[in-house]
Amino acid sequence: MPTSEIASPHDAPIFAPDAFRIEPADAALIDKARRFGATVLAPRAAEHDRAATFPIENFRDMHGEGLLAICIPKQDGGLGADFKTYCLAAAELGRYCGATALSWNMHVCSTLWTGALADQLDLSPADRALHAERRRVHYRRIVDTGALYSQPFSEGGAAAAGAVAFGTEARPVKDGFIVNGKKIFASLSGAADYYGVLCTERREGEGASRRNTLYLAIPASAQGVSVTGDWDPLGMRGTVSRTLLFKDVFVPEAEMLMPHGVYFRAASTFPHMFLTLSPTYMGLAQAAYDFTVSYLRGEVPGTPPVKRRMFPTKQIAVAEMHVMLEQTKALWFQAVSDARANPSREQVLRAYAAQHTVMENANALAVKAIRTCGGQAMLKSLPLERIYRDSRCGSLMLPWTAEICIDRLGRETLYLPGEKDD
Ligand SMILES: Cc1cc2nc3c(=O)[nH]c(=O)nc-3n(C[C@H](O)[C@H](O)[C@H](O)COP(=O)(O)OP(=O)(O)OC[C@H]3O[C@@H](n4cnc5c(N)ncnc54)[C@H](O)[C@@H]3O)c2cc1C
Repeated sequence: MPTSEIASPHDAPIFAPDAFRIEPADAALIDKARRFGATVLAPRAAEHDRAATFPIENFRDMHGEGLLAICIPKQDGGLGADFKTYCLAAAELGRYCGATALSWNMHVCSTLWTGALADQLDLSPADRALHAERRRVHYRRIVDTGALYSQPFSEGGAAAAGAVAFGTEARPVKDGFIVNGKKIFASLSGAADYYGVLCTERREGEGASRRNTLYLAIPASAQGVSVTGDWDPLGMRGTVSRTLLFKDVFVPEAEMLMPHGVYFRAASTFPHMFLTLSPTYMGLAQAAYDFTVSYLRGEVPGTPPVKRRMFPTKQIAVAEMHVMLEQTKALWFQAVSDARANPSREQVLRAYAAQHTVMENANALAVKAIRTCGGQAMLKSLPLERIYRDSRCGSLMLPWTAEICIDRLGRETLYLPGEKDD
């Protein structure tokens, strides 16, 4: 392992608990993630990036630390993190290994969306009871055996952006569904134990509707599930996001991660659920900045102790990076603090602005870090070039790509709900 990959467990938290008024119990959880990232993830990141292999041992170790269950309610054996605490912890992991943090997000969302998020939705007493019973089964698998869940939504068409119904379809049959379809860019494919698939429930003769979106946990071992294609991308190589195929897969009704119609309601009443892809990139933004400061001070492990900090141009570059990082942190922290059911219009617009800012600024900071630190800093023996490649992927994540955020911000700022031009 390159010595430069051994990060310091003494890195300061991205969000200092005192300054950001984080409760001690939440701060302890976020600190656990930071230490885990620095000591466990960082030393393994380069190898998985180079080989594009899934860091399964990171997830086994997370199980031991309770981190796979970070958002599972305490009464179900988890750590009980809320939306904001999860986001802050995920940013700390993203700082040390973007691919692990992003894959972890896919897993954690299967518990956050069915847990703290679903608890804020307006469910009928019958749906609430059914949901509580079913999610307990999923939580037990994670707590007891370290089961991994993934989140394959993308299909290569307009569905992942929320424009049309998913093409992957679930036909109701006795005691369950028969699922057919294809998911692209499925992080954790081949590694997850359950694929948390979004698909359209469609009865004989019925049209496809987004209102009938089902959120199903499909066991990786089920007959008819296969993983295909290769994974050799620019960045986030350790996510191993290959293609998943479902051919006449029988999925028992008990594998519904949300009752009928609830995913559609969650997506419309709790839009911040789509902000959960951003914490990884908040961490990468911090990592690009941290690297630059250490490098210019001649303190990056494994490199000669050459100082470059005395040049005014370097000082200006670091100052500009500092301003960009603080702007990014401030906006993002407010947006993750805003997350709730039925947010105000202002809060939704801020969430788009925060997502766009984090995704674009993480890469802008990495670009500037490389230009400022110079040629030796972009060698593959150091983490900066990986941060640069990983950070480029953030703006492409549906449903809130950087472009879609700009689209919505413009439209929803100029048009109030229901307004049209003659
Ligand atoms: C490293 C990595 C890991 C990923 N992991 C997962 C995963 O685990 N699960 C998962 O479901 N997906 C995952 N994705 C997929 C990701 O969310 C996108 O679906 C994928 O990058 C889209 O690629 P595309 O070329 O098909 O996009 P396209 O749909 O072709 O869109 C191309 C661009 O056009 C714009 N666009 C698309 N639709 C609209 C619209 N309606 N309005 C305005 N603009 C639009 C967007 O800006 C988009 O970036 C991952 C992607 C990456 C890079």
